[in-house]
Amino acid sequence: MSTHHAFQAEVAQLLHLVTHSLYSNKDIFLRELVSNASDACDRLRFEALDNTGLYEDAPNLEVRVAFDAEAKTLTITDNGIGMSEAEAIEHLGTIAKSGTKAFMSRLSGDQKKDAQLIGQFGVGFYSGFIVADRITVESRRAGLPPEQGVRWVSAGAGEFETEAISRAARGSAITLHLRDDAAEYLNRWKLKGIIGKYSDHISLPILMRKEEWDAEKGASVLQDEWEQVNAASALWTRPKKDLSEQQYADFYQAISHDFEAPLCWSHNRVEGSTEYTQLLYVPAKAPHDLWNRDKKPGVKLYVRRVFIMDEAEALLPAYLRWVKGVIDSADLPLNVSRELLQESRDVKAIREGNTRRVLALLEDLAKQGVQEAAPADTASADTAVDAADAPASPEGAEAAPPQPKDDKYARFYAEFGAVLKEGLGEDFGNRERIARLLRFASTTSDAVAVSLADYKARMKEGQKAIYYLTADNLAAAKSSPQLELFRKKGIEVLLMTDRVDEWALSFLHEFDGAALQSVAKGAVDLGQLQDEAEKQAAEAAAEQHKPLLQRLKAVLADKAADVRMTTRLVDSPACLVVGEGDYSNQLARMLKAAGQRAPEVKPILELNPAHALVQKLDGAAQFDDLAHILFDQALLAEGGLPQDPAGYVRRVNALLV
Ligand code: ADP
Repeated sequence: MSTHHAFQAEVAQLLHLVTHSLYSNKDIFLRELVSNASDACDRLRFEALDNTGLYEDAPNLEVRVAFDAEAKTLTITDNGIGMSEAEAIEHLGTIAKSGTKAFMSRLSGDQKKDAQLIGQFGVGFYSGFIVADRITVESRRAGLPPEQGVRWVSAGAGEFETEAISRAARGSAITLHLRDDAAEYLNRWKLKGIIGKYSDHISLPILMRKEEWDAEKGASVLQDEWEQVNAASALWTRPKKDLSEQQYADFYQAISHDFEAPLCWSHNRVEGSTEYTQLLYVPAKAPHDLWNRDKKPGVKLYVRRVFIMDEAEALLPAYLRWVKGVIDSADLPLNVSRELLQESRDVKAIREGNTRRVLALLEDLAKQGVQEAAPADTASADTAVDAADAPASPEGAEAAPPQPKDDKYARFYAEFGAVLKEGLGEDFGNRERIARLLRFASTTSDAVAVSLADYKARMKEGQKAIYYLTADNLAAAKSSPQLELFRKKGIEVLLMTDRVDEWALSFLHEFDGAALQSVAKGAVDLGQLQDEAEKQAAEAAAEQHKPLLQRLKAVLADKAADVRMTTRLVDSPACLVVGEGDYSNQLARMLKAAGQRAPEVKPILELNPAHALVQKLDGAAQFDDLAHILFDQALLAEGGLPQDPAGYVRRVNALLV
C-alpha cells in the first residue's frame, strides 16, 4: 500500500529549476548522490561511536555504483545510516535549509547565473532529476528491523509516493530511471571519469563492477566482481608536491558545491601545541547567504580522517565565515560535540591558527596586486610550525595560476571586503592586520583601492589625522559639503559607503600612529594645515555673527543642538555635523531603516559666513522660514529627509513665488 505525498512548494519550484538550469552541468548529479551516500556512511560511523550495534554484520562502509543498460537504470547504493519511512518523507520532500525563500527570489531567469546560484545552494538529491524521469529510493535505517524499510518513488513533478518494504541491508539504494537523452551514463568509462573528477577524495571505497573484454561476444562485458574506482585518500593528507592545481580546484568544488574555481588556498600541516592539517580556500564569489548572521563557515572537521561535522563554526571567527575547507585534527576526541568544541583549548588554538593563515593568504594576495604574480611557491615546506608568535609568513600559501592583469585582491575585496571589516569589532588581536587589508574609495580614487597605508604615505606635511566620510553611496559622498575645505586644501578624504563602515570604524581609533577622524563629526581642526589668517577670520566671523547665531538657535531649538560658524565650507551655505562621540546622522538613519532604536541625536548646524545666503539672513523678512530651509537643505544634502517635507516644500515655494 503506497501513500501519496505532495512536495513542499519550494521543492517543486527547485525541481523545476534544477531540470531546466543545470542541463549543461549534468554530470554533477553523480557527485551529489555519491556525496550523499558518503555523508550517510559518515553519519553511521558517528552514531555508532555510542552504539556499535548499528554496524549490524557489515562493518565496512562503502558506496556502489552500478548500471543496467537494458533497463536504462543507474543505481547508487550505500550501507550508511539509511532512512525510515518518516525520514524519507521529511528529507526527500522538504528543504530544511534556511533562507530558501530568499534564495529563490535571487534567481534571475538567466540560466547560467541561476545554475551557479543553485550550485552554491546545493541541490543535492534533487539533481538526480536532471538525468532521470523517475527516481526510486529503497532504504532502511540502521538499527530498525528489515520489515521497516521504505520505498520512495517520484517522477519529480508535484508529488511522490512511499510504501513500507522489507529490506535486509541497511542503508539506501537510489535508482535513477534515465531519460532517453541521458543514455551516455550507461557507460562504465564515463561514470568512472566523473567519480575520478569529483569524488576521488571521498575516503570510503566507491565500487563498480569490473569490465572485461569478451572475445566471443566482441564486446566488453561487466563481471560479477567489484573493484574500487576512487583513490580514497583524503586529499588533504597527501603531500602538496603530489597535488596539482586542478586537484585542489576539483576538491574545492566537491566540498563547496561552487561551480567556480577558488581564488586561492592554503594547505599546511601544523605542528605545535596541537597538531592538525588545514586546507583553507578563498572562494571567488560570495555565497547567496553571506549576510545571514547565522551562517556558519564552510569548514569541515575531521579527526584523524574520520568525518566529524560540517560547518564547524568554532574553527573560524564569524568575519571569516566565507572561508571553505577542511581541518583534520590529530588531537581531538572522536566523539567531540559542537558544545565541546566551543570550550576546547585545542580548538581555540586551531581557530587562531586558521585565522592567521587566512589573513596571511589575503596579505599575499594583496601583495601580488595587479602585477603578473610570481608562480606559486610549490616547493615550500609542507609543515608549518604554529607558535603564537610565529611571524605571519606566507609559507605554504599557494595561489592558483596567475592571470596577467587580474587583480585578485580587488576581486576578493569586492565580494568579501565588507564582511572582513566586521573583524575590526570582533577580533581585537588581529585588528592591525585586518586594518591593513581594508580598501576604500577616496576623494582621489573612485576605485575601492586605497589602503590606510597608501593614504598615510600620501598625507600632507603637517597632517595628523586620517580623514574619512561615511555616506549612503559614492555619489552622495563625493558631493558632500563636508568635503569642501578638504578639497580646497588638497587633503585626501576616504569615502566609505558600506553599511558596516561606521560601526566597524568605531573600533579603529588610529592606524599606524595617525588618528582616524570623521569629517562629519566634531569641529574641524586641521591643525597646522590651516593658516593663522584663516583661523583669525573664523574667530572674527563667529564674534560678528553672535546675535544672528543666537536668533537661529532659538528658531531651530527643536532641530539643532547648536548653530555655529565654520571654516569647513567653501561653496555651500550650511552643513550638519554631530558631536565627537555621537552616532552620525547616517548611522542613525540606517538603524531606523532596519527597525532598530537609534538614540535621538540632534545635529549641529554649521554655517559658511562667506556665503551670500548666510550674509543676507541677518536682515531678511522671512527669517524663520529661511532658517528652517537652511537646516532642511543641509539635511537633504547628506541624504536625509526633512522632518516635515511638506512644510519644506511650502516654504521654498513661498520664496520662489
Ligand atoms: P543535503 O544533503 O544538502 O541535506 P539533499 O537534498 O541531498 O540535501 O538530501 C536531503 C536529505 O536527505 C539529507 O540531508 C539526508 O538526510 C537525506 N538523504 C539523502 N540521501 C541519503 C542517503 N543516501 N542516505 C541517507 N539519507 C539520505
